[in-house]
Amino acid sequence: MNDILHESVFTPLENDRKALSDSIRGRLIHSLGKDPLSATERDWLNAVSLAVRERMLERWIFTRRNYQAADAKRVYYLSMEFLIGRGLVNAMLNLGIYDAAREALAEFGVDLERIEELEPDAALGNGGLGRLAACILDSLASQCLPGFGYGIRYEYGMFTQEIRDGFQIEHPDTWLRYGNPWELPRPEALHPVRFYGHLITHYRGDGEAQHFWEDGETVYAMPYDLPVPGYGGGNVNNLRLWSAKASRDFELEYFNEGDYIGAVEQKNVSENISRVLYPNDASQAGRELRLKQEYFFVSASLQDILKRHHDDDHTWEALPEHVAIQLNDTHPAIAVAELMRLLVDEHDLTWEAAWDITVRTFAYTNHTLMPEALETWPVELMSRVLPRHMQIIYDINHRFLNEVRHCFPGDQDLLRRVSLIDEDHGRRVRMAHLAVVGSHHTNGVAALHSELLRNTLFNDFYRIMPARFVNVTNGVTPRLWLHQANPGLSRFIDEHVGQEWVHDLNRLTELEALADDAEARANFREIKLANKRRLAAYIERTVGVQVDPQAMFDVQIKRIHEYKRQLLKLLHVVTLYNRIRDGHADDCAARVVLFAGKAAPAYVMAKQIIRLINDVADVVNNDPLVGDRLKCVFIPNYGVSSATVIIPAADLSEQISTAGTEASGTGNMKLALNGALTIGTLDGANIEIRDEVGADNIFIFGLHTDEVEALRRNGYDPMNHYRDNPQLARCLNMIASDFFAPDDPHRHKAIVDSLLYEDRYLLLADYAAYVQAQDQVDQVFRDKEEWTRRALLNTARMGYFSIDRTVQEYARDIWGIERNCASQR
Ligand SMILES: *Cc1c(COP(=O)(O)O)cnc(C)c1O
Repeated sequence: MNDILHESVFTPLENDRKALSDSIRGRLIHSLGKDPLSATERDWLNAVSLAVRERMLERWIFTRRNYQAADAKRVYYLSMEFLIGRGLVNAMLNLGIYDAAREALAEFGVDLERIEELEPDAALGNGGLGRLAACILDSLASQCLPGFGYGIRYEYGMFTQEIRDGFQIEHPDTWLRYGNPWELPRPEALHPVRFYGHLITHYRGDGEAQHFWEDGETVYAMPYDLPVPGYGGGNVNNLRLWSAKASRDFELEYFNEGDYIGAVEQKNVSENISRVLYPNDASQAGRELRLKQEYFFVSASLQDILKRHHDDDHTWEALPEHVAIQLNDTHPAIAVAELMRLLVDEHDLTWEAAWDITVRTFAYTNHTLMPEALETWPVELMSRVLPRHMQIIYDINHRFLNEVRHCFPGDQDLLRRVSLIDEDHGRRVRMAHLAVVGSHHTNGVAALHSELLRNTLFNDFYRIMPARFVNVTNGVTPRLWLHQANPGLSRFIDEHVGQEWVHDLNRLTELEALADDAEARANFREIKLANKRRLAAYIERTVGVQVDPQAMFDVQIKRIHEYKRQLLKLLHVVTLYNRIRDGHADDCAARVVLFAGKAAPAYVMAKQIIRLINDVADVVNNDPLVGDRLKCVFIPNYGVSSATVIIPAADLSEQISTAGTEASGTGNMKLALNGALTIGTLDGANIEIRDEVGADNIFIFGLHTDEVEALRRNGYDPMNHYRDNPQLARCLNMIASDFFAPDDPHRHKAIVDSLLYEDRYLLLADYAAYVQAQDQVDQVFRDKEEWTRRALLNTARMGYFSIDRTVQEYARDIWGIERNCASQR
């Protein structure tokens, strides 16, 4: 090998202040062409980002060489969503160059803390599912695991939310407006992706049928690579996002007709595929473009994976030894049919060989039990857009049902229930069934959720193939959610247990003894107070409301959804308000109730809930009788960046979904890790959080999963609670009247009606228990020492919820991949 080529990445750039300052100035002048005398803050942001990027790219190349040399098995994480947030601070902290870069910028008179705020979030996701994908990538890189993300480079990510007159207004997220310094476009490495067309079947001499998918439209997938730096900086993995490009001969017919301009116009239409992230996280739109997005990124990713596998000189039969593919929910489940198509149609394997490879390669993560969120596609649509895949799905189904028939003879109803085709709702393809049948493992994301999968949604499959169903409880990355978001608490932890906790979160248990140390508690309290002051300033800046940092910060931050029960929290706000007005709250702790979260644009009820929160906030915040004792604030545009400001400042974490509805939750983990106490139901990962932090250090209330089910089965009547609980009735009457909407007395009638006549999520049934638990919260909060003691124990005992533990379980039990750290240079 040519030594100079080999050695060239072994002379890394230096990371001291002087070297960084040279790089920043160099990038500003030589890459951006800007004069330091007139450079704007955004110019400096771009310059420092490029200076940091140079350092990541060396390690990135080195990491790839290292995996290559070891012929390491790789995992590919296929996800329609990656909710990443900003890149600069994360990269600097993981590379260990934050302080040096800050000093280097200061030499130019530039304040790093100001310019880092100018970077837009990469918000390529809706909420928990997309954030999980981002945490998993961070963890793979930080643990030197050969793991790579594949997704879509949406031109417009999650919409930005404005609150105008109390209403949610959506604006397009133009995050690429000023370019993206973190991405490397690869226009030379395109893959073609076909849609529509038709099938032609030939019969070979041996009678085997061969299928050819012909005509249709071809769109090209162009990769953009984003380096993913691991903590400590040694390892840098890759996230590859696909963007749609019209084929070079776009729209030949138009050209043939001499309509040059028409052809160029059509080009934009085929590039619509990667234009925008679908904002619905709980009910699917069933739109053709969405199906095309799913297939587009899946096909490009699989072609890419197979090409790499082939370039490494491995046989197709050996694919499962070298490659694991994780399906993040059913959005990429068409991959099962696509891998079959590639192996059988393009690479001439037999069906049996291809099927064996496929099942041993894929694994599937389920994220929801809610029937309206389970993805199905009309057979008619699938047949038109992806005719070959529809046929493959029929073939998979035929063979699978034969096996089931063999094992459970005579059970016709079972066949109907497990079929990949739902025949009862106008013939639809059940993507979850395709994912389960085509994978070696299916996992839920918290212990309760996995148990419910086995007992309800996938019970039939569990009886047929019990070993396929496992649990992997979610986690969160301590790099972003503690080290980066909460520097005050991080320093406190460093001082007491050293710095290892950032990649070994169980080290936090060493903090436990401090819970009984008055000085440590005082320090812990001071840190929280400083974070609350920072959030109070943020609230004043963004909403114009003044809040008292000494009050309890009671936060519910998550997507707005009926099952998450923001209305239950709001009923409590009205209850507290009434007590204050009645003069029955003189001993109560002052509270600042904070809501944040986006509503899907088409989810009418969720948008009404936002409107009601803001109406209640208006009345409560402007009532002179209330003063600082109660404030209610809706913080607009919840996203990763605003979460990093809110979470470190929270005292109380609201995790109050109806038992059995929240798969796991990860917001609950971030908040407890940052020393908030949880008030929550026995739902999702709340149960495991209680087991870890101890039942005395969490406020659990409400119906259990089996009680919810029994209540629904026996005919639940919310009106009984309205009749029996005057306090509750008063709140509902106020909302139904013109009390919170003097200008529009009927505005909130639909909300109250839905609670009184249906109450799908049993808010009224849990109201009394919730208020009682909140009274306990109040009592404990007024005892500062006791509250701090419990808060500190929460932080100390949250180690289990590190995403590193989650990823270790996937690596060991599902992917079969191993650590492969680039040795020290
Ligand atoms: C963690 C996170 C979520 C998920 O929150 P849940 O409370 O688990 O629903 C959603 N959005 C953002 C921006 C997050 O950081």
